[in-house]
Amino acid sequence: MAETKITKRSEDYSRWYTDVIAAAELADYAPVKGCMIIRPNGYAIWEKMQQALDGMFKETGHQNAYFPLFIPESFLKKEAEHVEGFAPEVAVVTHAGGSKLEEPLVIRPTSETIIWNCYRNWIQSYRDLPLLINQWCNVVRWEMRTRLFLRTAEFLWQEGHTAHATYEDAEEETVRMLGVYRRFAEEFMAVPVIEGRKTDKEKFAGADHTYSIEAMMGDGKALQAGTSHHLAQNFAKAFDVTFQTDKGTREYVYATSWGLSTRMIGALIMTHGDDNGIIIPPKLATTHVVVVPIFKPEERQSVMQAVDKFTAGFKKAGIGFKVDDREQYRPGFKFNEWEKRGVPLRIEVGPKDLEKNQVLLARRDNREKTGASQDGLDQTVLGMLDTIQKSLFNRAVEFREKHTYQIDDYKQFPEILDGEGGFIWSHWCGSGACEEQVKDETKATIRNIPRDSPAEEGKCIKCGGGSERRVIFARAY
Ligand SMILES: [Zn+2]
Repeated sequence: MAETKITKRSEDYSRWYTDVIAAAELADYAPVKGCMIIRPNGYAIWEKMQQALDGMFKETGHQNAYFPLFIPESFLKKEAEHVEGFAPEVAVVTHAGGSKLEEPLVIRPTSETIIWNCYRNWIQSYRDLPLLINQWCNVVRWEMRTRLFLRTAEFLWQEGHTAHATYEDAEEETVRMLGVYRRFAEEFMAVPVIEGRKTDKEKFAGADHTYSIEAMMGDGKALQAGTSHHLAQNFAKAFDVTFQTDKGTREYVYATSWGLSTRMIGALIMTHGDDNGIIIPPKLATTHVVVVPIFKPEERQSVMQAVDKFTAGFKKAGIGFKVDDREQYRPGFKFNEWEKRGVPLRIEVGPKDLEKNQVLLARRDNREKTGASQDGLDQTVLGMLDTIQKSLFNRAVEFREKHTYQIDDYKQFPEILDGEGGFIWSHWCGSGACEEQVKDETKATIRNIPRDSPAEEGKCIKCGGGSERRVIFARAY
């Protein structure tokens, strides 16, 4: 196994990030620039994310379906804003089966068009609504500047596409799914997020309005972690999807769409990772505990007997574990390796521990070590995993609070942004021109207009015009 050295996070954040991915064996570069190979350790995290989200989608009444990868080019052109937004990054198939195609095929950058073309046949009456569908798939957006997990030409995601009878029903769904994303980010990923509405400039191409959850990464930059769009009747009009109302009239259908992708693995790394590697929150870990038995050859049998006994309890309690009894590696090497991969908890056990009927528990998050009895160890471990999950979240909240500023003087923007970074809560008049100028001058964008930002009279940070509430400015991934 190759040793991968990890650059210190404080030295070079961006190198640290790619080093952690290599050291934890999460992903590799692909032969085609911008594409990514997700290795088993990375894919295991994605599978856990999928399970958690899929459960929540089904709890809220959604069903999974699958729509084709190829979309006739003409479909994309039917919604004017949509095509304008996506055209620059679309990959197109012009030849197949040895000849030129009559109509080029777009490789889906997102599936609104092909799905709404299909909904025309599925929706006739108000009785067919709401229609609540989700799809797990890959999409392609030809990006010029790519980074593993955060921005790749092809990525994995889920996209929900729902149809409703009224604007209000669609709004309720848009907000409900934003809430599902928030719960997922906070409860499973231990990543605190801020729910809010995107500005018109930053909304999804083809949406009436977009909501996002925004998280703060370890370098003070923001990461958009999930989006939920109210599409109003835009796609229904483009694809002529109407329904008969309960009063017998015909109306266009209202739509939402919402997506969350493998970039969340990048968010996980950048929220919790440290100089020793990734830290996987227990709820997304496949291996919760690694057991490293320590023994001389003649002690092997007695130590392994104890290990077999308490791991049998782990099995019953649903604790994922690995026993690393490879004799060709020293314990220190093993500790290091499992820390890189982010396993939340390590158990060390040797002959001296057997005498005392105990083991040593080492937490990955704060590297604290404590002794614990072998009796009822499964319950001790479950309790410890719960503590780790909570403390990761609390630590991330503290970090965010420490790097959050209320600023009323624009001169302070570069000070903060070129320093430790963070979220700047400032007033904004609502003008796209002010937003654009701030972006040009500071590279900070309005991340969102927080849903729970209290009403407060103020002056726009850029032009001094009237403002009713603060928005969040930050540099972003
Ligand atoms: Zn302004």
